[in-house]
Amino acid sequence: MKIVCSRCKIFLGEQEPFDNLAEIKAKCPSCIVKEKEEASRFIPKPLPGQKQEITLENGLKGVLWVAQDKKDKLFLGDLAVSGKKFFCTKSGRDKFQEYLGSLKGEDAEVSFLHTVSIKLDPAQKGRRKKENPPKVEDPKKNHSIDYNCTMRAPKYYVQLMFNDMAERMDRVIEILAEASYEAYKKDCQKTIKAV
Ligand SMILES: [Zn+2]
Repeated sequence: MKIVCSRCKIFLGEQEPFDNLAEIKAKCPSCIVKEKEEASRFIPKPLPGQKQEITLENGLKGVLWVAQDKKDKLFLGDLAVSGKKFFCTKSGRDKFQEYLGSLKGEDAEVSFLHTVSIKLDPAQKGRRKKENPPKVEDPKKNHSIDYNCTMRAPKYYVQLMFNDMAERMDRVIEILAEASYEAYKKDCQKTIKAV
């Protein structure tokens, strides 16, 4: 099998089985250096404190911004409406509807986790010299940036967003529950066999 650089296509070597001419993707040393340089120049957009307008798939316009404050951090399954955070589940639907109804106006301001951009620190990913002991990473240092999207939408639409998210979240919870139940069943069988 041929080992080829996935970026510049340079031939790097061969590997068994030699009669198989399929390619194995790898990275050559000069491309690794180039990618590290590119990563160090990467400037996330928008920057913390800035806002960037985007058009969502459904045509609605939203604003991307960086969640810096803990209170602004959203997770998948979270919606924040006029500053109040909700985790979307079917059991929380009535409470959400009530809150939405208590807000003034036809529209509501809704925020959700839009994207997460991860910037790797090239210095920490690179090869370390042996004489330098590995640095203990500051747990407070965060290498990823969460982007929230905020938009104004009609209340009925915000409710639909909640329902849709709740359905997906309930399905995720179901899958997790099934998996842990399967694991539990296996454990029980092992115990029975052991006895
Ligand atoms: Zn290369």
